[in-house]
Amino acid sequence: MSGYHERPVSLGEPFNDLAPEPVPDCDRCAALAEERCEARKEGQFGAAVIASIKIREHRMFGSHD
Ligand SMILES: [Zn+2]
Repeated sequence: MSGYHERPVSLGEPFNDLAPEPVPDCDRCAALAEERCEARKEGQFGAAVIASIKIREHRMFGSHD
């Protein structure tokens, strides 16, 4: 058992790191957040992650361009 490290993985929210808050007052972010929510409900996690990445882009770079 030596050398084994338990990793703190939260199975309840596997996309926690990829779930940025949408930027306030940004229509695009609001739409993406909605999209992400719908995608998750339908089990389309790939689409949810893509929406999250686009939201994060705005947070990181200040725009969607
Ligand atoms: Zn935005």
